[in-house]
Amino acid sequence: MFVDIAKIKIKAGNGGNGCVSFRREKYVAAGGPDGGDGGRGGSVVFKVDDNLTTLSDFRYKRKYVAPNGEDGKGGRKNGKSGEDLIIYVPRGTVIREAESGAVMADMSSSEPFVAAKGGRGGWGNPHFATPTRQVPRFAKDGTPGEEWEVSLELKLLADVGLLGFPNVGKSTFISVVSEAKPIIADYHFTTITPVLGVISMGEGNSFVMADIPGLIEGAGDGVGLGHEFLRHVERCRLLVHIVDAAGSEGRDPISDFEIINEELKKFNPELAERPQIVAANKIDLATDEQLQRLRDYFEGLGYEYYEMCAPISHGTTELVNAVWNRLAELPPIKQYEAESIPLEMYEKADNKGFTIEVEDGVYFVKADWLLKILQRCDLDDYESLQYFQRVLISSGIIDALREKGINEGDTVSIYDLEFDFVN
Ligand code: GDP
Ligand code: MG
Repeated sequence: MFVDIAKIKIKAGNGGNGCVSFRREKYVAAGGPDGGDGGRGGSVVFKVDDNLTTLSDFRYKRKYVAPNGEDGKGGRKNGKSGEDLIIYVPRGTVIREAESGAVMADMSSSEPFVAAKGGRGGWGNPHFATPTRQVPRFAKDGTPGEEWEVSLELKLLADVGLLGFPNVGKSTFISVVSEAKPIIADYHFTTITPVLGVISMGEGNSFVMADIPGLIEGAGDGVGLGHEFLRHVERCRLLVHIVDAAGSEGRDPISDFEIINEELKKFNPELAERPQIVAANKIDLATDEQLQRLRDYFEGLGYEYYEMCAPISHGTTELVNAVWNRLAELPPIKQYEAESIPLEMYEKADNKGFTIEVEDGVYFVKADWLLKILQRCDLDDYESLQYFQRVLISSGIIDALREKGINEGDTVSIYDLEFDFVN
């Protein structure tokens, strides 16, 4: 089965904790603080691998965890950082935050995407030494790494998609005009992984054509492989619709053509509007009357129409040239813009507990859901900061701090955010 959709969990490494330690040397009674900092947690990073054409690797492995940073040690030894975990995906994979469906990245370019950031390492106790606090007995914990459930959806990147019933000659066509070597079969063999062919037009020009797993009747209603097919043609700039001119399987090429367009419309009306060039294949088997009927029909509807016998490359060059000329007029392949993840969904979560611990006059607040918001909020941005403050109030954290006896000017520490309490 052609797998082009998957849901996985990713978790970046936590930052290592800072260390509390004091120098111990012979003849030195009480050495200064020398606890090392924690190392950074590894991030989870997506990269494109052009050898991949499906998401089948994600069918069995569903959880991806990057290593934590190591804790700091005495003698000012900083903890080692966790290595980034690289996840390879086929080009054209769209990554979404699973719960909200917000697009995090469209892996169309070769730019790596850091999907879950590793936590920062905590500071060792030397950072907390001040003239009045020469023996700092505390260090900072590292911050947790980001954790997401993401959905991956492959939306192939191809300029041209091939449409047509099984056995009309799609695989044959792509194999004679590109370097792609799909399976060509005399039976209803449905291509099970997409085949991408690069068609070079000379002078460094080229375009990409996709032969995508089977479109069958009822596809628009979600029967069989239909939706997978339709999802992939969504990005194609142009469609080449191939029909069997001779109706060699006892079907009528015109009704085939209409059925497929009906399916496109059902799935996504926009797709039915996508420009199509029609190619009548197997003209070696067709009668003059059959060909004349097709010519009249398609040209009557205003389609650019070509005839070919794909196995011997008869007429294929003309079709390829027509495709190339048409592509020159069409907008580029659609890319999905990254969307911001609606933080409110964490605020609305059922389980909104938190803990507050007081140490040395510092109020440490911990809450998983709040961490999510904090990790995604840009607190240098005024509006985000306002939003964050509103969340602190509405969740009852501010009231709880007051109950614990916090005073104006005391320090509040929420993971790696620290601020002075203002009443
Ligand atoms: P697909 O299912 O649309 O990919 O069709 P294929 O390319 O696998 O072709 C189906 C069968 O039709 C194969 O046996 C091909 O050899 C044959 N075929 C393809 N094009 C032509 C053609 O122009 N003339 C004839 N006679 N047979 C063809
Ligand atoms: Mg085929």
